[in-house]
Amino acid sequence: MNKPKILILGAGYGGMISATKIPKHLGANDASITLVNKHNYHYQATWLHEPAAGTLPADRARMLIKDVIDTNRVNFIEDTVTLIKKDENKVVLEKTGEVDYDYLIVALGFESATFGIKGLKERALTIEDLNSVRQIREHIEYQFSRYHNMETKEDHILNIVVGGGGFTGVEFLGELANRIPELCREYDIDRQQVRVVNVEGSPTILPMFDKDLVAYAIQRLEEKGVEFKCGHVIKECQEDGVIIGRRDSEETEKIKAGTIVWTGGVRGNHIVEDSGFEVVRGRVTVTEDLRVPGYDNIFIIGDCANVPNPETERPYPTTAQITIQEATYLSKNIKKALNGEPVEPFIFNDMGTVASLGHGDAIGIIFGKTKLKGTSAAAMKKIIDDRYLLKLGGVGLMLKKGKLNLLSK
Ligand code: FAD
Repeated sequence: MNKPKILILGAGYGGMISATKIPKHLGANDASITLVNKHNYHYQATWLHEPAAGTLPADRARMLIKDVIDTNRVNFIEDTVTLIKKDENKVVLEKTGEVDYDYLIVALGFESATFGIKGLKERALTIEDLNSVRQIREHIEYQFSRYHNMETKEDHILNIVVGGGGFTGVEFLGELANRIPELCREYDIDRQQVRVVNVEGSPTILPMFDKDLVAYAIQRLEEKGVEFKCGHVIKECQEDGVIIGRRDSEETEKIKAGTIVWTGGVRGNHIVEDSGFEVVRGRVTVTEDLRVPGYDNIFIIGDCANVPNPETERPYPTTAQITIQEATYLSKNIKKALNGEPVEPFIFNDMGTVASLGHGDAIGIIFGKTKLKGTSAAAMKKIIDDRYLLKLGGVGLMLKKGKLNLLSK
């Protein structure tokens, strides 16, 4: 009898944990497993704010997929998914063509959502993957390097506007606040000439944290020169800056800037919507065992999935934390799924959240009650980052790629 074919799309948190854990729960004869990813490397998306600001080399946030998966058990295809033919059990890949499956795990991750804001898609940079963050770093360095050589000095080219004061935006601001003084020294520029402005539509940044922690984050970032424009939205992105204003007001203000980074929203990968799945912001609302309603052989995990919280009936926020738990759950239950046996529902165990404010500083809430700030929160952040590496590739990977050895950086 032919072995069932399991096809995993995307080698982010969801895809990599699935590709490393499923072989541990299935015998070699139980199924063939294939992983598809558009690059030959896996990057940790939760670290992207660091290479974006230039505080960590991009290489530190990635690893070759073949160094981590068991290539005797998992066939890796480096290719880009262009379409899922869900009614034919096939996936279309850019170079390879069609690949068929019996079971599909979709883990294609997130992309930026620009909500139709004029000029944003064309002109703003985004924190999406390793290539996009390398571009941010290089763009900022380019603006600093060209400043002294301009015939007519345009001071605004040194200004950086960050749209969105959620997790990604604030973590990026924290890194940027540490990086700007370094860049100023390197390019002989007075720190006072550089504005870093955050534009956030809500009355405050980081809505997932309580007032104390948010106040701490704002104070720490303001001390390092970040300006906050809370309660303001970007209404238009232009060549040389952004037009901002209050949501319900005609009054606007222009902030001139040479770099505009948009972190104000994410959605599920467009491939899912393009493939005819029913989506909300690019995400499929999955069943309690993470399947697509009506398609028992398709699982969706990570940022392409809306997993309803049974207590509130609203979807859980999409995070690496829940993605890793989804992939672990799926790996443990895959054998039952293959045998057509019922599986227990997925239950999310919220262990807390820590947001970095730049090296050595962070805020966090652990196990729903313990608040952390400063160096203890920063240490916890590194523990969380390293714990993932330990789970993915054991002590060896953690020691090779982890952050704890950099505590004294
Ligand atoms: P991803 O990690 O995005 O992986 C998707 C993979 O699919 C990638 O390898 C990509 O290359 C591949 N891919 C995409 N399109 C295709 C295609 N067409 N064909 C083939 N391959 C493709 N979450 C937390 O829990 N805690 C945090 O502290 C935290 N901090 C964050 C900080 C930043 C700066 C950012 C950007 C995110 C942060 N998140 C955090 C959110 C977290 O990164 C995401 O929720 C998580 O990455 C989702 O995992 P995933 O496996 O669904 O997708």
